[in-house]
Amino acid sequence: MNHFIHLVTTNRLSHAYLFSGLPGCGKRAVAQVVAMRLFCQQPTNSGLPCGHCPECRRILAGDNPDVVMVEPDGQRIKIDQVRYIKDEFSKSPVEGATKVFIIEGAETLTTNAANGLLKFIEEPVANRVIFLLTTNKSMILPTILSRSQVVEFPALSSSAFADTLRERQISDNQISLLSALTNSLEIAEKLTNDDWLANCQHELSRWFGQLAKRDDMAFVTVSTGLMPLASDRDHQGVLLDAIILLWETTLRVKYLPDALDTAFPELQQTTVNVAQSLTRQQLLDILTAALGTKKLLASNMNIQSILETLTLNILAELKKVA
Ligand SMILES: [Zn+2]
Repeated sequence: MNHFIHLVTTNRLSHAYLFSGLPGCGKRAVAQVVAMRLFCQQPTNSGLPCGHCPECRRILAGDNPDVVMVEPDGQRIKIDQVRYIKDEFSKSPVEGATKVFIIEGAETLTTNAANGLLKFIEEPVANRVIFLLTTNKSMILPTILSRSQVVEFPALSSSAFADTLRERQISDNQISLLSALTNSLEIAEKLTNDDWLANCQHELSRWFGQLAKRDDMAFVTVSTGLMPLASDRDHQGVLLDAIILLWETTLRVKYLPDALDTAFPELQQTTVNVAQSLTRQQLLDILTAALGTKKLLASNMNIQSILETLTLNILAELKKVA
């Protein structure tokens, strides 16, 4: 952040930036602060925008015609949005000296749309700064990458992340699981909505407990307990991650019996029991099967079949030694 403020104050801001990083890592905030700094009427002594003058407030409200903000409308940035960006790009700043473009989800631009924007990125136009924001740099056209200054945003450190979650009244139990599953605040908030995470912990504990007893009910729990958690693609992915985490934990307990894990507090004794009853090879086979589920999901296999097949495979493995 200080780096960008310094560039603004010394008038050395480049004309095109690509901010790359996980959701919730602050890409948009930094772009907005830079925009605010360009327009702020009373920057602080340290050069930061004040945050409360009329200009700062308009930008925060998305209400400054010289700060053009675009985010994907649904799955992608639509053609009329690209047209809007181009139109705005060809117009001079209305009020200020500079025009700022903040384009979120840049990876969702079609090749055509991205090529259309390339023209503006290629030949710097005076008084235009464009910030392309992406969570997936590998999906950005190489031509765009090579013409922008790429800035990688690190994820929040795990302790800072845990502190932020604690400030938001999230319980310690949930924090351990959340920190294992994501380092994005945005995703963490989505997962704690409607008690999804608590339910996930609870249902996975039930499922794992049944597996530990070699109880075929675990198969039924897939449809009664796990499927309600798998409402959309994002949640399906996280559910599989949590299952993988459970089996990773069990394997770790096999090697380090004292390794305590609080991601699934109800399961501490159960993981020890399962770890003791299986060989290392068996645990590795189960973990490999669990890891494979992510690939199956990516290839559009039905989530219920993925979970049911995994459950049957694990039951079969467990019953070998029952
Ligand atoms: Zn201000």
